[in-house]
Amino acid sequence: MPKKIKKKALKNAKVKKAKASKSKKTSSKFKWVYNFEDTPRLNTQSLKNLLGGKGANLSEMIRIKLPVPPGFTITTEACNEYYNLNKKYPAALVKQVKDSIKKVEKKIKKSFGNASNPLLVSVRSGARVSMPGMMDTVLNLGLNDKTVIGLAKKTNNEAFAYDSYRRFIQMYSNVVLGVNHHNFEDLIENYKLTKGVLLDTELTAEDWKSLIGSFREQIIKETGKDFPQDVHQQLWGAIGAVFQSWKNHRANVYRKLNNIPEEWGTAVNVQSMVFGNMGQDCATGVAFTRNPSTGENSFYGEYLINAQGEDVVAGIRTPQNITKKARLEAGSKELSMQESMPKAFNELVTIYKKLEKHYRDMQDIEFTVENKKLWMLQTRSGKRTAKASIKIAVDMVKEKLINKDEAVLRIDPKILDTLLHPTLDPNATKNIVAKGLPASPGAATGKVTFTADDAEQLKAQGQKSILVRLETSPEDIHGMHAAEGILTCRGGMTSHAAVVARGMGRPCVSGAGTIQIDYESKLFKVGSHEVKEGDIVTLDGSTGEVMLGEVNTIKPDISGDFSTLMAWADKVRSLKIRTNAETPLDTKVARDFGAEGIGLCRTEHMFFDDERILYVRQMILSKNVEDRNEALKKILPFQKKDFIEIFKTMSGLPVTVRLLDPPLHEFLPKSEKEISGVASSLNITEREIKNRINDLHEENPMLGHRGCRLAISYPEIYEMQCEAIFEALMECQKAKVKAIIPEIMIPLICTAKELEILRALVDRVAKIVEKKYSIKLSYLVGTMIELPRAALNAFEISKQADFFSFGTNDLTQTTLGISRDDSGKFLDDYVNNNIFKIDPFISIDVDGVGQLVKIACENGKKNNSKIKLGICGEHGGDPDSIDFCHNAGLHYVSCSPYRVPIARLAAAQAKIRSKR
Ligand code: PEP
Ligand code: MG
Repeated sequence: MPKKIKKKALKNAKVKKAKASKSKKTSSKFKWVYNFEDTPRLNTQSLKNLLGGKGANLSEMIRIKLPVPPGFTITTEACNEYYNLNKKYPAALVKQVKDSIKKVEKKIKKSFGNASNPLLVSVRSGARVSMPGMMDTVLNLGLNDKTVIGLAKKTNNEAFAYDSYRRFIQMYSNVVLGVNHHNFEDLIENYKLTKGVLLDTELTAEDWKSLIGSFREQIIKETGKDFPQDVHQQLWGAIGAVFQSWKNHRANVYRKLNNIPEEWGTAVNVQSMVFGNMGQDCATGVAFTRNPSTGENSFYGEYLINAQGEDVVAGIRTPQNITKKARLEAGSKELSMQESMPKAFNELVTIYKKLEKHYRDMQDIEFTVENKKLWMLQTRSGKRTAKASIKIAVDMVKEKLINKDEAVLRIDPKILDTLLHPTLDPNATKNIVAKGLPASPGAATGKVTFTADDAEQLKAQGQKSILVRLETSPEDIHGMHAAEGILTCRGGMTSHAAVVARGMGRPCVSGAGTIQIDYESKLFKVGSHEVKEGDIVTLDGSTGEVMLGEVNTIKPDISGDFSTLMAWADKVRSLKIRTNAETPLDTKVARDFGAEGIGLCRTEHMFFDDERILYVRQMILSKNVEDRNEALKKILPFQKKDFIEIFKTMSGLPVTVRLLDPPLHEFLPKSEKEISGVASSLNITEREIKNRINDLHEENPMLGHRGCRLAISYPEIYEMQCEAIFEALMECQKAKVKAIIPEIMIPLICTAKELEILRALVDRVAKIVEKKYSIKLSYLVGTMIELPRAALNAFEISKQADFFSFGTNDLTQTTLGISRDDSGKFLDDYVNNNIFKIDPFISIDVDGVGQLVKIACENGKKNNSKIKLGICGEHGGDPDSIDFCHNAGLHYVSCSPYRVPIARLAAAQAKIRSKR
């Protein structure tokens, strides 16, 4: 088919498909709602896409015959359609929800809104991936002035019924009607004060009735309307609130941090309530099938007797351990679930084992015990620390639950970062002032700050902070991200702070009960100490210790499970991993982390050393070639020494040395003081320096006289650098260092002719050194591809090049026409407006820069099938970009030393995915 016709046909097909899908969605038969027991037979991922993670897993638990209260899921498609229709429900939704409620009523033998036997439901969000606490939930829905009486009679427990009603009013008013929860909390606190009681559980039915009256008055005051009594109105209010919470501020922030696309939408799960707050034979809890902090294969969780789920996660009451072992380890006197409810506990153990086997992953489960009967409310893959992720993956291979490829795929490469950074030195002196729970491991030091906004502000100023809160809530998410560590006075290991911190890899100590925060005076007291905002504290998230001041740290341990997993990754990947390094220290760190060579040695960084910058300046200020050569002669021994050290550390491995790249003005003094210092050191006038600075001034230096253009004007600079490289190589040969073949890289090439001239320069210098020492030198000459013209002319350029290294920092800048130095000011707006999914300087812009990389690879190989292809821009350490590089046929990626393990793992994952 001719191209034009084919295009038209394709377009028509697309329009047809869109129309068909539109008409399908307006049809009354289009399914927006599924009861848990009759969800469609789809593969796990498609089911999650449709029903969200929570909905898909609830239906799966029913399929494997676990005790799950009946309910239904409104699909993520309904959420998207709700937004397409400008926040209106699709026509068929109302009837389908009604029908689904009927099915639930039939199953549970209760009736929604019925005064004598009321069905109460929970309404919860549930996106494809879990976004803990970011969206809204309403519990106990279906209670009103009549049904509460029915519930009291049916359960013979008036206090429970009115407690549930007031909880519902509080939650619904906050989530749906927008009444601030402080209103209700203040009323409860005042009431308790007047009555002289401490705990909510000491309040009677009469007390709650009276408080409900006050709540209602407050709601009228705030909203102008009474609390809705119609249960259907309540339900639709809650469904709408959950849909809307998909786009609330904290969910938006969380999505952005975790790269979750907005178009996924959230599902809504409506489920029959079961009650953990009906008395002493009731409980509610959350548990992990393995320890989420350490990864240890032991059941781990917390529960509360006579409580509802949100009491555990909100950190309002400090929960008790589930197992006796954990209780003894924690030194707690409160009975564990294993001791107080052995039957329900044993059943829970059977279920968690079944779930782990079924999902072949560590699960995070929620359950309720209602009058001794165990109900499962949720299961999902548990969030875990980096350390636990690795231990669990390695253990599961040993247990034959998963294979090695799956284990490699299980680990998000980005989390490795937290393992590679220092931990507290066990021998350091510590001034421990409090001990909480070891909620998320790692050491963190910073200035005490009490609000999320302040933490964010400090971060913007380049300062480190520790966010100290009574407990965190999802509103604090931006501050938790900005802070180095998080400290809370309340809440357990499954509190919001703990779960979110672990997910983010932030060290966290939770439930440090001896700390008393005074938000108003911006300080906390602990023992005899008073710690003010701005004071330095250190947290150890692995032990729960809180220390005054800064504490020494030590290098991380990357042996054991970490090295086992990395060995599996290394075995499977085909991309080589190099590093961007120029100092002996960085080179050594990178080698220890497994770098297989240097992909970018930025020689200009070597120029800034105190001793040599003077000669560099002298070279730049020279008025003629002779003077310049004089200065270059003084720089040469320094460069040579650096190269010898690097070649020795990298013995036997490839080393790419990039010749001088930045514009010369970067090396000149800036302040008056510096100028006068340089003038006297070089015995020239300040005026001469200022004139030269003026000469070198460029409006747009990144597009100016830099890179290979410098060498076209001043070839002697590159000549000196090549001489230093070859002399160093010769010294290494003499010292019998295992052969290294330097790869001499010319930056910012735009035409084949530039490279032809500069390659000849390199060869000329090589010949001189070879002749001088009567030796034969092996080296490669290649170029960076940093300009679109270079990418498009790769065929011609490759005639002069042994290798291409994609400098995607500049290539992104020059392809997008966006300054890499100034983009920070506005790129966020581009991401927020969905113009870019992610900052293109972080993850490669596949459609633009990526296309150029592919063209250059293909055309380069056409001319020179042996051409080496690599990347040395920042993208070389970004897992998504590494996936792209693998598929584009690159031979290696090069990244900063601390990202080497991340790149090793990401490269293995790319290979495994491409095999599937
Ligand atoms: C690049 O442009 O991608 C690169 C690696 O060079 P630099 O960041 O030094 O400009
Ligand atoms: Mg560059």
